Amino acid sequence: MDCVLFDLDDTLYDQVQPFALAYQQVLGEGPQVDVEALFRASRRYSDAAFAASERGEIPMDEMYVYRLQMAFRDLGAEVDAATCLAMQRAYAHNQEHAITLLPGMAEVLDGLRARGCRLGIVTNGPGQHQLAKAAALGMERWVARDATLVSAIEGVAKPNPALYLRACERLGTTPERCVFVGDAYVMDISGAVAAGIPAIWFNHRHRNPDKGPAPDYTVHSVDELRSLLETL
Ligand SMILES: [Mg+2]
Repeated sequence: MDCVLFDLDDTLYDQVQPFALAYQQVLGEGPQVDVEALFRASRRYSDAAFAASERGEIPMDEMYVYRLQMAFRDLGAEVDAATCLAMQRAYAHNQEHAITLLPGMAEVLDGLRARGCRLGIVTNGPGQHQLAKAAALGMERWVARDATLVSAIEGVAKPNPALYLRACERLGTTPERCVFVGDAYVMDISGAVAAGIPAIWFNHRHRNPDKGPAPDYTVHSVDELRSLLETL
């Protein structure tokens, strides 16, 4: 293995953190729901609507309202569209200004660089927003700018294997000499497998496997990830 590709959201940082902060900022004492369950539900609806919003079939604002309203509804709470949009704005702002790497992740990245591995990021989302998150995490310390591939900039999104293959090209490597690390069973793993890149499912939220190709490896914590990467 000479290169490692990472997903960004909820792989390098805890995506619940800026979400929970936005919830508190916008809803304060509002509906008392389990914020992590709300986050998980909103991600599920987000993944389901991502392809249609990327194709421009659903305006982004409509997608933001949809995924939050549906998530709240699953937890027995009703919120209006304006509240959803306010929460989305706060969440996006927090993601660009109030995120940090998962504890221990900087050491994982340092360890990989120390043994000569080149690192990349493969992420779905709006160009400037994803780049701002990477910058907020200080990723330029480990990842070259051209090895940060954002779907909206590249014109192709996960799980399309073309995006993963482009990342290999940018890093000057081949799929079999690479490893992919991501938290999303379907979005991350199926694309990596289709591209011929060994895939690590970073299942730190202890989710059940979804439909789709199985990952080559599964780990549940940053410690397990570090130990596994040391053997590859
Ligand atoms: Mg992710």
